[in-house]
Amino acid sequence: MDDGDKETEQRRGTATDEDIVGTSRKRGLLLVLTGDGKGKSTSAFGMVARALGHGMQVGVAQFIKKRSDTGEALFFHRQPGVYWHLLGEGFTWEGEDPGRHEVAARHGWKVGRKMLKDPSIDLVVFDELTYPIQYGWLDLEAVLFDIANRPGAQHVVVTGRGAPKALCEAADTVTEMKEIKHAFRSGIEAQPGIDF
Ligand code: ATP
Ligand code: MG
Repeated sequence: MDDGDKETEQRRGTATDEDIVGTSRKRGLLLVLTGDGKGKSTSAFGMVARALGHGMQVGVAQFIKKRSDTGEALFFHRQPGVYWHLLGEGFTWEGEDPGRHEVAARHGWKVGRKMLKDPSIDLVVFDELTYPIQYGWLDLEAVLFDIANRPGAQHVVVTGRGAPKALCEAADTVTEMKEIKHAFRSGIEAQPGIDF
């Protein structure tokens, strides 16, 4: 049984879902996780774990390199079926040449676009993609075009605060994380396993 048959067989078991949506067609979804509350990236990594559990291939591109020792990078990059790309420069660039960030972002999108052209990758995560768009390092129209022209069954998840309206309109699922409280505001520093 090849992978396609296996998937079809698994899908037969999801009659309830199919009844609800009225279709059994396999369709790649675009999900956007935005807002200023905690939980955007970790939700995306939860979907990475789910997808890997189903034997799917996953590509992750992190567009803001806050640190390279995050639990997710350390864990997932060792897992079979994952392509993990740490792209972009750090958050702080005071006194730095802003062109450096643009170059990094453009290189990042080259990597991203390559994954969007690869039908063997079932799920692509663009973590913190909203920032290089907001800062004008990446062209929103070009990003939307590449996402729209991805393989039909490929899922894409975009995370980051301030998701542009056009990206949310193009998405199938949009969730806004709302901050009620964050430990950081009480002066508690970032904790391994929780924050990175
Ligand atoms: P996470 O990676 O924990 O899911 P996130 O992706 O929603 O968080 P980001 O804006 O990418 O949030 O920030 C990532 C880091 O900043 C994490 O360490 C997270 O705990 C922290 N963080 C998230 N939201 C807030 C907030 N409202 N105030 C302070 N720190 C935050
Ligand atoms: Mg995040």
